[in-house]
Amino acid sequence: MIKKPMRMCIACRERKTKDQLLRFVSHDHQIVLDNQKQLDGRGFYLCNKIECVDLMKKKKILNKVLSRMVTEQEYEAMKEYVHEKK
Ligand SMILES: [Zn+2]
Repeated sequence: MIKKPMRMCIACRERKTKDQLLRFVSHDHQIVLDNQKQLDGRGFYLCNKIECVDLMKKKKILNKVLSRMVTEQEYEAMKEYVHEKK
C-alpha cells in the first residue's frame, strides 16, 4: 500500500489525505479553489466543511496565513466551494 501524504486543515488542524481536503490558493487577492493543485500563489488546505470555514473566520487564522485581511466575500466564496463538492 502506498502511503499517502498527509496535509493539515488550517482551521481545525486535523491531518488528512489530500483528497479529503480542499486546496485553496490566494491569487491576485482572490481566493480560488485549486482543483489541479498547481496554481501559483499562497495555498492552504481546508476540510470540506462549513464548520472549518467558520472556525477559520472566527479565529482569523487565514489573515495570519496570508498576511492580509480576508474579506467577507472571500469567506462566502469559500463556503460556496464547500457546498459545491457535496
Ligand atoms: Zn478542518
